[in-house]
Amino acid sequence: MSSRPIYLDSHATTPVDERVLAAMLPFFTEHFGNPSSINHLYGWEAEAAVKQTREILATAINATPEEIVFTSGATEANNLAIKGVAEAYFQKGQHIITVATEHSAVLDPCKYLKTLGFEITILPVQKDGLIDLTELEKAFRPETILVSVMAANNEIGVLQPLAEIGAMCRERNVLFHTDAAQAIGKIPLHVQAMKIDLMSLTAHKLYGPKGIGALYVRRRNPRVQLAPQQHGGGHERGMRSGTLYTPQIVGFGKAVEIALEEQATENQRLTQLRQRLWEKLSQLEGIHLNGHPTQRLSGHLSISVERVDGSALLLGLQPVMAVSSGSACSSATTAPSHVLMALGHSEQQAYASIRFGIGRFNTLEEIEEGAEHTISTIQSLRKQAFRV
Ligand SMILES: *Cc1c(COP(=O)(O)O)cnc(C)c1O
Repeated sequence: MSSRPIYLDSHATTPVDERVLAAMLPFFTEHFGNPSSINHLYGWEAEAAVKQTREILATAINATPEEIVFTSGATEANNLAIKGVAEAYFQKGQHIITVATEHSAVLDPCKYLKTLGFEITILPVQKDGLIDLTELEKAFRPETILVSVMAANNEIGVLQPLAEIGAMCRERNVLFHTDAAQAIGKIPLHVQAMKIDLMSLTAHKLYGPKGIGALYVRRRNPRVQLAPQQHGGGHERGMRSGTLYTPQIVGFGKAVEIALEEQATENQRLTQLRQRLWEKLSQLEGIHLNGHPTQRLSGHLSISVERVDGSALLLGLQPVMAVSSGSACSSATTAPSHVLMALGHSEQQAYASIRFGIGRFNTLEEIEEGAEHTISTIQSLRKQAFRV
């Protein structure tokens, strides 16, 4: 085990926290009931556990438990939000606004809607990865029904100005959806103060299990209409049919509970580790930080490296550390990342980029070792290139 690479890819996924696993286990075997079974104890105890997670999630974002719809993750939540709103509001208008740096689980449903006749405006971002609010202002049309802007970016870590966007949408009676897969438990999220109408969540970026997420759907001021994308038994108030996955839901609740308890101290610790990593890496010349320097997730560092080949760099890092590259995260393709390209990078710059995701279980020693290995790998690649 000791020879396994240092895990520094916490924005791809995280391990399940032992405390989360312990909370989940009884719900596989002893408390295995169907939360929809209303006639016996097995159903009641499963339903009580599901209700508890609903309450934890609602409290975490200042919503009510009835506004939480469980899904299989953020991909499904994004699909339900975007396609569900499009289908429910198409008579009001057929224009949607989103951003070039969104996750493919937002961009691809929008592309799909385009084939059905919807018009999609894809806003550019500034060099620091943040949207320009005046661009958003110009993009609104009388037929705009939805704006979808993510809370925290998975590839470059930047935090978009949710409260400002929410205010602009509310003023114009346009619904506001945010993909908060990377944000929940890490930064404050407040659906009232930020005027958010729909919010996608997932557990596995937060030391919870994979395969469980949720969509927050506002019920009052305004009441959001949503066309279900999965039909069946009418679970989740008809918005998402399918037997609830109780163990995963219990794990999701526990994961969020722990993250909120530890948020302040953990953010401080992660910020220090990230600063240490950047302090060391930035001693090399030709290293650039991707994304806004301070308006970002605490454990997230994305860099572009001049004068190295991206794939050679990743190959050199792999034995020692697990990080992500600047190519598209879908394993089927090796296109340069659409997020880094949206920052104005060349393809070469996008390829020669590394994302470090520092997480709950990383230590200062791991950061030091990772930094030193990254530096020596870059130096030796540059030397080789010089010889050629
Ligand atoms: C991981 C991620 C998703 C996808 O979430 P799943 O739960 O894995 O489907 C969507 N959006 C963002 C920003 C993400 O980081």
